[in-house]
Amino acid sequence: MKSIIEAKRDGRALSRQQIERFVRGVASGDIPDYQATALLMAIRLNGMDAQETAWLSLAMAESGEVADLSSLAGMKVDKHSTGGVGDSTTFICVPLAAACDATVVKMSGRALGHTGGTLDKLGAIPGFDAALPMQDLLRVAKDVGAALSGQTGRLCPADKILYALRDVTATADSIPLIASSIMSKKIAAGCDAIVLDVKFGAGALLKTADEARELARTMVSIANLAGRRCTAIVTNMEEPLGSCVGNALEVREAVDSLAGRIADTPLIRLSVLLASHMVALSQGIDVREAQVRVEDALSSGEGLRKFKQMVAAQGGDARIAESPALLPRAKRIIHIKSPKEGYVCALDARLIGQAAQALGAGRDKADDDIDLSVGVVLKKRVGDFVSKGEALCQLHVGDDEERVKTAGALVSQAVTLADAPTAAQPLVLEIVEG
Ligand code: URA
Repeated sequence: MKSIIEAKRDGRALSRQQIERFVRGVASGDIPDYQATALLMAIRLNGMDAQETAWLSLAMAESGEVADLSSLAGMKVDKHSTGGVGDSTTFICVPLAAACDATVVKMSGRALGHTGGTLDKLGAIPGFDAALPMQDLLRVAKDVGAALSGQTGRLCPADKILYALRDVTATADSIPLIASSIMSKKIAAGCDAIVLDVKFGAGALLKTADEARELARTMVSIANLAGRRCTAIVTNMEEPLGSCVGNALEVREAVDSLAGRIADTPLIRLSVLLASHMVALSQGIDVREAQVRVEDALSSGEGLRKFKQMVAAQGGDARIAESPALLPRAKRIIHIKSPKEGYVCALDARLIGQAAQALGAGRDKADDDIDLSVGVVLKKRVGDFVSKGEALCQLHVGDDEERVKTAGALVSQAVTLADAPTAAQPLVLEIVEG
C-alpha cells in the first residue's frame, strides 16, 4: 500500500492491479483508514486519468453484488442525477420512457444534506415498496417497463467505506472520486445504458459549469470503458428545478406534471429531455424521434397511466395520481411575503434546500428521521415580479416553531430582488454522448 500511495503522491498513474489491490483491501478491512485516506488525498491533489478512473469504478462495482438484469429483453436503461433541489424528474421521465417502450430499472438513494433523495420521495407514496426482492423488481420491470427501488446494502461496499472517509478528510470534491463513486453504483446496478443529469450551481455538488462539464465527460468515458452507452446532460441548479421542495410536495408536482395539471415548466422540459435520451439509447433511435414519442406520451396521458401501473405493481396507492391530496399533508401552511417590490433575480437553491431540510424534509445525519409532508413551495421564480406583501413562497410545516423560524430566515436569505429583471440562465448547458 505504501508504494501505491508513493506513486500517486509523485503524480504517477496507478496500474489496474494497484487499483484493484487498494479497493479489495478497503472492502476487506485489510487496509487501515490512515493509508486509504492518504491515497484518497493523493488522488484529490494529483488526479487520475480516464483509464485509472474507469478501473477504480469497475473495481468498486465488483467489490459487492452486481445486479443481473439479463432476464429482461433488450437494452435496460438507468437514470441518475448528481443531486439537486426540487428535482422530481425521476417520477416523470421514468414512466414517460417506459411508455415509449424503454425498460427502466432504477435504484435510488436517500436525501442527505440540502439535496433530496428519490428513495425518500418514494416513501411518500402510501404503500409503495421500494425494497422489493430482486426477482419481484425484475417482474415489475418486465410487466410495466419501469421499476424503482432503493439501493441494496450489498452494492459497492468499497464505495460506502471510501465515501464515508472522503466526507471527513476533505477529499469529497475530487472529480475522479465523485465520478467513480457514482459510476461504480450505476455499473453494479446492471443497466446497459445510463442517462446522467450532471448539475452545477448553488444547489449542486459542483459549483461551476466547467467542473460539471468535466464530471460529465469523465462519467461518460467510464461508462464507455465499462461497455455501457451513456449520455450526460449538464444542467443548471442555481435555483430549484421544480417549484416544490420536500418529499410529498415533489411527488405531487411530478404527478400534476404527468396529468397535465401544470405545463411547460423547467421540471417538465428537463424530464422530457431526460426521457428522450433514455428512449433514444434503449431503442437505438435518433433523440429527435424519441422526443416526439415522449411528448406524445406526456400529452396523451400514457406517461401518467404508466406511472399508475408502476405504483400499483409496487404495492403503492395509484389513486394519488387523481387525488394528490392522498399524499402526506403538513399540519400548517405559512406564507412568506415579500418585504418590498422587485424582480426576483436569484433564488439560491442551496438555501431553499436547507430550509426544507430545517423543516424536517431532509436529514443532517444518515440516521435522522424525516417528515415526508413538510417543505417549501415557491410562488415566484427567477424573472418574476413580486409586489410588496405578495407571497414569495409557502412553508408547509409541522409543530416545531424553532424549525419554522430557521426555515423562514433561510428562504428570506435565498431570495434576491432587483429593480429590473435579469436574463434567464439556460437550463441545459451541454449534452455529452458516448
Ligand atoms: N454521489 C455519489 O454517489 N458519490 C459522490 O462522490 C458524490 C455524489
